[in-house]
Amino acid sequence: MNDCIEIRNLIVFANHGVMPEEKTMGQKFMISMKLYNDMSQAAKTDDINKAVNYAEVCSFVTEFTKQNRCKLIEAAAENIANALLVCYPTLSRVDITLKKPWAPIGLPLDSVAVELTRKRHIVYIGIGSNMGDKQGYLDFAVKSLEESDVCNVRKVSRFIVTKPYGGVEQDDFLNGCIELDTVLEPKALLDLLHEIENKAERKREVHWGPRTLDLDILLYDDMVMHTDTLTIPHPEMAKREFVLSPLTEIAPYAYNPVARDYAVNMLERIKCNDNT
Ligand code: ADP
Ligand code: MG
Repeated sequence: MNDCIEIRNLIVFANHGVMPEEKTMGQKFMISMKLYNDMSQAAKTDDINKAVNYAEVCSFVTEFTKQNRCKLIEAAAENIANALLVCYPTLSRVDITLKKPWAPIGLPLDSVAVELTRKRHIVYIGIGSNMGDKQGYLDFAVKSLEESDVCNVRKVSRFIVTKPYGGVEQDDFLNGCIELDTVLEPKALLDLLHEIENKAERKREVHWGPRTLDLDILLYDDMVMHTDTLTIPHPEMAKREFVLSPLTEIAPYAYNPVARDYAVNMLERIKCNDNT
């Protein structure tokens, strides 16, 4: 969808900068934005309530830019983009150009600017627990993500009781799946999930062993990535009924770009293999 509202050179007097005088005296910033959102409903109904109100956006960005001081314009621009995505759920993408026309570098210049794009990412998280108050731990995970201002929980599956996997003798699991959108990049999202696991007293002792709470990134948009700490899509998901069953309940056509298949098909295949 390429529909977008474009705002050019909103002028805000603010205090971003590294130099002491920038912090105390402040200076002029110019902010340009492209706000991507599906305009078909607003266009069809001619109703302001179905549109992103650009007057309101300008006030929001002005206030936000004045109040959230950064040393770098990179940080200031990213914070503005993320704040817009969090505050306006209908925006799918925001492009920001933040200009500093009076950058104090002791040389004449027109202006210096940073440009960046931030998007809302659609993510599926597998959740599981097999120690203590399992339902309580899964509810805690959902609530923690709901309360985070960088995520927006869209759907939560039912929780199902499943047999342990991986050969370690242990209690049954309670498993589920969450669909969320987030402004976080994959590594930052994994850090947030680990923080939530740690708050649920998760200890990493036995691989595939008992755990109070396990939060795994199953899918992140159509991304394929592999680093020492993070593999997306989750490499085991296509083999695990306890992952695919709740995923299929909330998103049957969630697509795994490595397995090149949809959740519902992968689940069917496992069930067929189990029966043969
Ligand atoms: P598991 O989930 O495999 O039972 P852990 O929860 O202890 O085991 O995860 C071990 C490590 O797996 C994490 O510290 C993380 O760095 C890594 N990891 C790799 N890919 C993913 C992913 N898609 N989601 C979550 N963790 C992942
Ligand atoms: Mg895990």
